[in-house]
Amino acid sequence: MAAIGKPERSVVTTCAYCGVGCTFRAEMRGEQLVRMVPWKDGKANRGHSCVKGRFAWGYANHRDRITTPMVRDSIDQPWREVSWDEALGFAAERLKAIKAQFGPGALGGITSSRCTNEETYLVQKLVRAGFGSNNVDTCARVCHSPTGYGLKTTFGTSAGTQDFDSVMAADVILVIGANPTDAHPVFASRMKRRLRQGARLIVIDPRRIDLVKSPHVEAAYHLPLQPGTNVAVLTAMAHVIVTEGLADEAFIAARCDADEYGDWAAFVSEVRHSPEALEPVTRVPAADLRAAARLFATGGNGAIYYGLGVTEHSQGSSTVMAIANLAMVTGNIGRPGVGVNPLRGQNNVQGACDMGSFPHELPGYRHISDAETRALFERDWGVTLDPDPGLRIPNMLDAALDGSFRALYVQGEDILQSDPNTRHVAAGLAAMDCVIVHDLFLNETANYAHVFLPGSTFLEKDGTFTNAERRIQPVRKVMEPANGMADWEVTQALANALGLGWAYTHPAEILEEVARLTPSFAGVSWERLDRVGSLQWPVNAAFPDGAPVMHVDGFVRGKGKFVVTEYVPTDEKTGPRYPLLLTTGRILSQYNVGAQTRRTDNIVWHEEDLLEMHPADAENRGLKTGDWARLASRTGETTLRVTVTERVAPGVVYTTFHHPATQANVVTTDYSDWATNCPEYKVTAVQVLPSNGP
Ligand code: SF4
Repeated sequence: MAAIGKPERSVVTTCAYCGVGCTFRAEMRGEQLVRMVPWKDGKANRGHSCVKGRFAWGYANHRDRITTPMVRDSIDQPWREVSWDEALGFAAERLKAIKAQFGPGALGGITSSRCTNEETYLVQKLVRAGFGSNNVDTCARVCHSPTGYGLKTTFGTSAGTQDFDSVMAADVILVIGANPTDAHPVFASRMKRRLRQGARLIVIDPRRIDLVKSPHVEAAYHLPLQPGTNVAVLTAMAHVIVTEGLADEAFIAARCDADEYGDWAAFVSEVRHSPEALEPVTRVPAADLRAAARLFATGGNGAIYYGLGVTEHSQGSSTVMAIANLAMVTGNIGRPGVGVNPLRGQNNVQGACDMGSFPHELPGYRHISDAETRALFERDWGVTLDPDPGLRIPNMLDAALDGSFRALYVQGEDILQSDPNTRHVAAGLAAMDCVIVHDLFLNETANYAHVFLPGSTFLEKDGTFTNAERRIQPVRKVMEPANGMADWEVTQALANALGLGWAYTHPAEILEEVARLTPSFAGVSWERLDRVGSLQWPVNAAFPDGAPVMHVDGFVRGKGKFVVTEYVPTDEKTGPRYPLLLTTGRILSQYNVGAQTRRTDNIVWHEEDLLEMHPADAENRGLKTGDWARLASRTGETTLRVTVTERVAPGVVYTTFHHPATQANVVTTDYSDWATNCPEYKVTAVQVLPSNGP
């Protein structure tokens, strides 16, 4: 093995994987990255890291990277390598022709949580100011859009309430629908440290995740609920707290709307919401649920952490609001050690949402229908904006099939692999006249593209990411872009090919524009971030140095809003043909659909997506660990290797979706969250039968 050699220089930058947002010193020898060293002064990681951030950066120079733009007239033709000018001109001509013939509503764009704030901001600006529609969405649509809706409704802002350090003041930690040791390992270490110090743990999850019992950490209660019954479990916990007189009446009287609390308290107090009445639905032993509720209400500071096991349901937004209700009824908001904390799967989920990449919101979560806000952006951008919300990703695909949506610009996102019901996504993409994929690799979505614009890695550009604790951190250029242009420059070039006349010379200028137009970012600048390392928004006159903990003296919306969240069973039903429930997730060495981790050669990554199955279900089917099985749903089928384990309950199976060959999303359904269309990845009725392999 060749010697690495001494580094000649180093650059401090931010991890491009999960929402913890660890900072690293990228050590360079010439133009070669030799290693990533966790940075001791990183506020999110304090010198720690996980295997992905430290070792999985080989994809940046992987042989699969495409560095030359390509075009083709139709998707059945081979790609043709062209210059940047030709590719951008080709794309612009198609976009202009489609707009002229079908109107601005036929065009749209998708931003990525893997891109910087500045890149995301430019994509939504391109769609709104250049395409002329609000048809812009982000991959947060398929993960944390219910967080945005739920927390804005109840608290007034679409973000977690605490900094990571807050967990060290927690007395009771409630983890629901999250697997921090695999998905957010550096934060999980801090949480485990607090648990070893004596904090109590409640886990609500269909799987027995590692936190339930690992060396030196054991949950006081694990509530292994039936997938899809989060709202029922949380309502039953609220029932115990209210009917047993455990509500924090002083907090509620001072901080929450009294009428709304009264309505909600009457609702949860109904006998039908007792743990005993709901046990047949949730399959959680009532005694355990009662004990867990009492512990959360009386155990001191109670902090709630949740992930996609909360949001990716037909009741995702309801579950987020039920969590907010639980925090408010126990007075667990507005100080260290408490709060509602969404754990973001990707590095910049928070930032992508902050930057206005939802079809109904301009940057800073301001509704597009608000004339005053619209006027602010119209003056700055020199355009007239459409006052109506645009299409979400699933609506764009539906509209493509009826011919009214015909052009899509996708930056840093592989919707064919990551979105539900793969066949439907493919049909929608195939129906479009112009699909522009802007990415590092020819991903699965690129099979349906007419223009491929090479992307840049996080090592090749300046910008900022915002982590799960609202911490805005610099991403610093470590090496020159392999394709000659950083992503923000590509989006700017496309905008200018459409005649927009943008002239940003550095992401600092884009961030300056964001700060000028977005009150919660008013005190943020590249120069300040470079100097202080990070800032947690809001950063403005009220919070000049940012706000590690939100809602301290009052909620952003004024009074906290209790929302009645009626449990509604999912439409996805088990039955004789599909008797099992499939739920999905990811493991430590995998990252989502694997575009980065699958292309990292320097360590051994999991080669397969495995199907976890309870021993009783496996025995019924004659399956044992290592056997191939056919996984079939009403939507589609795939083949996976089985691993038999008691981590899942009888009747429940689990897999990851890391490899394109597995196509786990072939089996997931079209059901989605009632408020946000976030797909219901976590509940699919399936059958599993022996197979000879793929
Ligand atoms: Fe990167 Fe997340 Fe791992 Fe930190 S915990 S190194 S941010 S993947």
